[in-house]
Amino acid sequence: MKGFAMLGIGEVGWIEKDRPKVGIYDAIVKPIAVAPCTSDIHTVFEGALGEKKNIILGHEGVGEVVEVGSDVKDFKPGDRVVIPAITPDWRTMGSQRCLPQHANEMLDGWKFSNIKDGVFAEFFHVNDADMNLAHLPKEVSIEAGVMLSDMVTTGFHGAELADIRLGDTVVVIGIGPVGLMAIVGVKLRGAGRIIGIGSRPALIDAAKFYGVNEIVNYKDGPVDEQIMDLTKNKGVDRVIIAGGSPDIMKTAIKIVKPGGVVSNINYYGEGDIIPIPRLDWGSGMAHKKIVGGLTPGGRDRMERLLKLVQYNRVDPERLITHKLHGFEKVEDSLMLMKNKQKDLIKPIVYVD
Ligand code: NDP
Ligand code: ZN
Repeated sequence: MKGFAMLGIGEVGWIEKDRPKVGIYDAIVKPIAVAPCTSDIHTVFEGALGEKKNIILGHEGVGEVVEVGSDVKDFKPGDRVVIPAITPDWRTMGSQRCLPQHANEMLDGWKFSNIKDGVFAEFFHVNDADMNLAHLPKEVSIEAGVMLSDMVTTGFHGAELADIRLGDTVVVIGIGPVGLMAIVGVKLRGAGRIIGIGSRPALIDAAKFYGVNEIVNYKDGPVDEQIMDLTKNKGVDRVIIAGGSPDIMKTAIKIVKPGGVVSNINYYGEGDIIPIPRLDWGSGMAHKKIVGGLTPGGRDRMERLLKLVQYNRVDPERLITHKLHGFEKVEDSLMLMKNKQKDLIKPIVYVD
């Protein structure tokens, strides 16, 4: 079968591989529609996770089941499914003990395009299908399903990690597709004032659509100064980081109030150190909490997110700005994601 792969750091291309084999709990799925992720860009072009050779890319998609293992109960060939970007090993002690995202070792719940071949392939393997796949309900579009794979769940995780309380003032740094879904997550959890940080007009329009109250353009001057002006020097209750380089942590620590939370869902592709400014962090005594994480995955999570779409709490389709047709277009979609032209939020590729 054919797949579009990371050949090495900075290098991508089409490769041939054997069709994956199904284990007793697993499924083989063929893609219906897929999307590239900014994480693919960090992994391939910045070498964020180190050297990887000939690994098929892609971890966001909706597909059709083509084969299931003998012990799979709830899925059968022909079923339309949402593929969560994160597909943990649920049958492990690590999953019971701590976070399924890190069941055996750090980040190993992120399998596609990280530790095994991803969804930019004619066929791909899904471990523990009953625990990791979710049926796509007829009321939910393919497009929304693809955005749920990673963008919605990750943005919402930013809001979960931030532990948003009713009436909080929240800054979302970065209003790409992940930050935009963080805005929706924050709103659903009852935030009061929501301030988004970005610059591209297409993203600013989308941020307003999704419920931001104010926008700060990081190109108009230091973000910390702009936020302090807007909040009369008080700072904010919660900060979610969904964009920027490691130095963005300095801004986040500066603008969050004592007792506040900095929730990081950004994936840093460069630099060995993420800096924490000592005085702004109260020399270690300000109760400014820093948390960061990989989005949760699996079936229950995805079924909950599907309900939010089905019952009109979130409209993820607004994220899609570019629609491409044909499997071979995954290559173009990755380049769109790399170059981030002005009007791009998220591309989708229909494998027809
Ligand atoms: P985008 O690149 O589409 O958006 C990034 C946003 O950050 C844009 O709004 C951009 O502004 C803004 N930005 C860039 N530089 C700065 C800066 N210096 N100061 C303030 N804002 C800045 O990214 P995505 O939304 O696709 O993804 C966001 C992050 O989430 C990525 O790092 C991605 O890898 C990560 N991710 C993490 C996951 C997880 O499980 N934790 C899962 C999926 C993704 P502008 O308007 O100018 O473009
Ligand atoms: Zn991703």
